[in-house]
Amino acid sequence: MVSVSLTRNRAKIRCYDSFQVAVTHEYGQLYRSPQVICDLLRGFFAAYLSVIFEKEIICEEMVCQSTGAGYCEFLTLPLPKKLSLRRKTRAQRIKQ
Ligand SMILES: [Zn+2]
Repeated sequence: MVSVSLTRNRAKIRCYDSFQVAVTHEYGQLYRSPQVICDLLRGFFAAYLSVIFEKEIICEEMVCQSTGAGYCEFLTLPLPKKLSLRRKTRAQRIKQ
């Protein structure tokens, strides 16, 4: 984790040698143009931080090692209220 803001529910996470990048080195790229590919990790981070922050968190991969960068970098932030379909997070529902 590079940085975390508990007040803003944001975090920046760096991953070195993502297993998803390793898979592309072994089997080749899925896409013709270079782009971020670590969607499974992105989902994990969004899920973990949604539980920790007790609100819906989304995660985007901003930099990916598969495009030649030295690492993959993910940014997490709260899901904008307009996009939130569920009123309560899983953790909040469990507490009831
Ligand atoms: Zn990546």
